Amino acid sequence: MSLKIAIQKSGRLSEKSLGLLAECGIKINNGDRKLKAEAKNFPVEVLFLRDDDIPQYVEQGVADIGILGENEVWEKDKKVTVVRKLGFASCKLSLAIPKDEKYTGLGYFEGKKIATSYPKILEKFFKEKNINVIIEEIGGSVEIATGIGLADAIFDIVSSGSTLLMNGLKEVEVVTKSEAVLISGQSLPKDKQEILDKLLFRMEATKKASENKYILLNAPNASVDAIRKLLPGMKAPTILPLADEGWSSIHSVIGEDDFWEVIDQLKKNGAQGILVVPIEKMIL
Ligand code: ATP
Ligand code: MG
Repeated sequence: MSLKIAIQKSGRLSEKSLGLLAECGIKINNGDRKLKAEAKNFPVEVLFLRDDDIPQYVEQGVADIGILGENEVWEKDKKVTVVRKLGFASCKLSLAIPKDEKYTGLGYFEGKKIATSYPKILEKFFKEKNINVIIEEIGGSVEIATGIGLADAIFDIVSSGSTLLMNGLKEVEVVTKSEAVLISGQSLPKDKQEILDKLLFRMEATKKASENKYILLNAPNASVDAIRKLLPGMKAPTILPLADEGWSSIHSVIGEDDFWEVIDQLKKNGAQGILVVPIEKMIL
């Protein structure tokens, strides 16, 4: 029994998806870029597919879970469940118009023709706003649609905006934001659910680790109480006597978010020789 995971065969998500599995200790050997590969040390089988097809495969149970952009999940609208956001491949889905046009708000789009590869997401958006638009579905290179006279505006993925600029367009509305997600079929058999739970546990440990650092420092004994408060750690910091009388070594865990703030406070409280090292896995 193995859990079948669908990932993108080649594209923006492929490397990160394999990387995520590798961080969870899952080694996949796919030297020849086959359609399927089995992990050596964990009961999973990886299917390499086009991202567009992943929701359908997962809905039908050909794959048990899949990794893809949330934008494709919305667009395909299949019966699948988003189990976890993965924090990579972040992008916006935006409306853009020729840069010399005067933008007057969403009403601008009334009666306009908009080219996109995401017709369902766009249709739903304008329907909710009660605005009538003509949607022109195209497979790719959406950004050239206005330049060649196919449409008045486009709706597409935007990350830095440089592609828009190069094509004489400006972003005028961010319709939604997307990132890579893990999806599963609506109900997995118990043994597969157990494998998925193990995988999710490992993902969480990896994520926690990336959000935290291990910190070691020396401090005069008189400062230990103040520093303890700044570094609560996972349970409590480790405090060890230094070989020099009157000094202690303090070990703890510090969050990435308030990192510099805390370092400043530690220095003010007499901390010296501060070392900060990455954590590979963190289990609470
Ligand atoms: P496939 O051949 O598998 O259908 P694709 O061409 O549809 O590939 P990619 O361009 O590899 O897809 O993008 C995959 C996903 O990466 C997108 O659906 C989106 O979620 C995300 N993404 C993040 N930033 C960008 C970007 N700048 N352009 C396109 N996609 C992006
Ligand atoms: Mg695709």
